[in-house]
Amino acid sequence: MSSPYADLNDPALRDRAVRAAQGQAPFDTLLVNGRVADVATGEMREADVGLVGALIASVHPRGTFHEAGEIIDLDGRIIAPGLIDSHLHIESSMITPRSYAGVVVPQGTTTICWDPHEVGNVGGLEAVRWAIAAARGLPLRIIVLAPSCVPSAPGLERSGAVFDGNAMEEMLSWPEVGGVAEIMDMRGVLARSPLMRSMTQAGLESGKLVCGHARDLAGKGLQGFLAAGIESDHEITSEADLLEKIRAGMTIELRVSHEDILPQAVALFGKLGHVPQTVTLCTDDIFPDDLVSRGGMAYMLRRLVQLGLDPVQALRAATLNTAMRLQRRDLGLVAPGRRADLVVFDDLAEFRVHHVFASGRHVAENGELCEPLRPDPVTAPTETMKLALTTERSFYIPATGTQARVRTVAIPRTTRWGERDVAVRDGHVVIPQDAALMAVFNRYGASDVPGLGILEGWGEWSGAVATTVLHDSHNLAIIGRGEADMMLAANTLIKSGGGMVAVRDGKVLAHLELPVCGLLSATAPEEVARQFNAVREACAAVTTWNGQTAVIKLMIGASLACNPGPHVTDMGITSGMTGEVVTNSVLA
Ligand code: FE
Ligand code: FE
Ligand code: FE
Repeated sequence: MSSPYADLNDPALRDRAVRAAQGQAPFDTLLVNGRVADVATGEMREADVGLVGALIASVHPRGTFHEAGEIIDLDGRIIAPGLIDSHLHIESSMITPRSYAGVVVPQGTTTICWDPHEVGNVGGLEAVRWAIAAARGLPLRIIVLAPSCVPSAPGLERSGAVFDGNAMEEMLSWPEVGGVAEIMDMRGVLARSPLMRSMTQAGLESGKLVCGHARDLAGKGLQGFLAAGIESDHEITSEADLLEKIRAGMTIELRVSHEDILPQAVALFGKLGHVPQTVTLCTDDIFPDDLVSRGGMAYMLRRLVQLGLDPVQALRAATLNTAMRLQRRDLGLVAPGRRADLVVFDDLAEFRVHHVFASGRHVAENGELCEPLRPDPVTAPTETMKLALTTERSFYIPATGTQARVRTVAIPRTTRWGERDVAVRDGHVVIPQDAALMAVFNRYGASDVPGLGILEGWGEWSGAVATTVLHDSHNLAIIGRGEADMMLAANTLIKSGGGMVAVRDGKVLAHLELPVCGLLSATAPEEVARQFNAVREACAAVTTWNGQTAVIKLMIGASLACNPGPHVTDMGITSGMTGEVVTNSVLA
C-alpha cells in the first residue's frame, strides 16, 4: 500500500463522481431523507448524500437527484462521518483484530489507531508483523502504531522481547505503521536516556506520529516531554491537567476507559465555549464484556451528550479532529470528494447505529455486519507458554526457624511497602490468614523461579486466581492462598496456552482460554465476553475483596512495575522508584 489515498486517486472513479455530482450519471448509492451532522459548521442540516465507489460524490438538497444503483431512505436519520478511535489496545478486549472489527464496525467505528503493545511484549517484531497482517482486509481501517515500551520497565521485569531504537526504525519503515505508539517512559524521555532518545528520534525522522503517555506530567516536565517531540496524551486525571495539556498544544486522546474524567472534561469545554480542535476521543482499554454489551466509541458519545456536551461537537472530536491529527485528508467529514466512511444514527442521544458504510460499501445494518468477515490471512502466534508445570514447592517462600519478619506489598490503591511477622513451618513462610501470596513466573523461558510477594490489604482469600494478561510483560501471575489451588491455577493456564482462571478447593470455577499470545482468543466475541464475565464473578467468590473487575485490575496493578511503589514481577518484588529488586522478602 503506497498511499492511503490510492483507491481514491483513480481518475476514472473521479470522472464518475464528478459527473454524478452534476446529475450527468447515476450514483452507486443514494442516501435520501437524511440529516447531515456537519462537523465543520456544527449544524444539523437536511441533505441527500450520493456515493460513487469509495467516494462521497455529492451532498445536495433533498430530492435533487433520483438516479442510483441503490436508493436508501433514511427517514430523517442522521448521517455522520465514521467514528475514529484515536488510541486503543485491541488486546484489552481479548479478541483478535478480525473479531474486534466484527464488534465495533456495527457500532459505527470505521477507523482505529491500534498500539499492539501487549502482543509486541509477548512476541516481539514477529507479533507486530502478525498484528499488521491480521489488521488487513477488514471493514475496519486499522492504523497500527509501533510499540515503544517493550518491555515497559527494563531491569524490573522480563518480557518476550526487547525493542531498541533499531527495532523502532525498522517498524517505522513498514508502510502500514502510522507512527510511534504511546511513549510511556517519561523519566527516560526527560533524562534523554539513550533508549528513549533513539525511539523519539526514529519517530521524528520517519515523519509519522509520535504519541505519548504523560501521566501526571505538568509544568517543566510536561514542557520537556513535548519539547522532545512527543505530541499526544490520554492519561488525563483532572480538569486542570486537561487544560494545561491543551494549552501546551498536546493532542488529547480523551478516553472512555476512565470515564470518571469525562464530567470534568465537559465542564472545561463549557468554560472554553467549545471543544478544542486538538481534542480527539478514544477507548484505550475496554474489557470484552463491556465492548460487546455497551460498546466503545458510540458509548463514549452517549456519555458525553448525557453530561451536557453538544452532540455535533462530540462527533467532531470523534471524527474531524482525529482525521486532522492523523493527517488523513480523506476522512472526518460528510463532504464531496472525501472517502465514504459514514455512519447513520437513529438519534444523537443514544447514538443507536442504523447503517455503516466503509469506503462506500454498506458494511453494517442494525447491529449486524452485512457480509461475513474474511478468514484470518495468517496464523496467529500461539504456544507462548514456555515454562514447565509448577509444583506446590514453587509457591513456598523459604525461611528458617518458626518465625520470620517479611517485607510485604501493601495494597490496594497504590502499592507501598509493608512489614510484618509471620509464622514459619517446614522451612517456608506461612501466609497469614488476612494476606495473599502473589507469584509471577516468567513465561518466555528466562527462569522457572517465580517472583514471590505477600500482598496485604486485599481481603481474605480461599482459592486462587491466575492470569497471563499482566501488563506489560504478560508473565504468568497467580494470587491466592493454598499451594494446591495456586498450582492448579498456574498449570491450567500453562496447558491452555494462557488466559485467566479462578480455582477453589481443587476445582476450576471459571476459565477463559486466551491462546493467541496468551492474551487473545479467536472465539466469538460474545463467548469471550461470557467467559470473561464468568471469571470476573469467580474472582469475586475466592476473595472477600469487593468488586469483580477490581480483582483483575488490581492483580494487574500489583505487577505494573513501571509505576512507583513495590510490584511483584517475574524477577521478585521490584521498586519502580529506586530500581531495587527484592528476590527474598524474608528479612534477616
Ligand atoms: Fe497509556
Ligand atoms: Fe494506552
Ligand atoms: Fe499494557
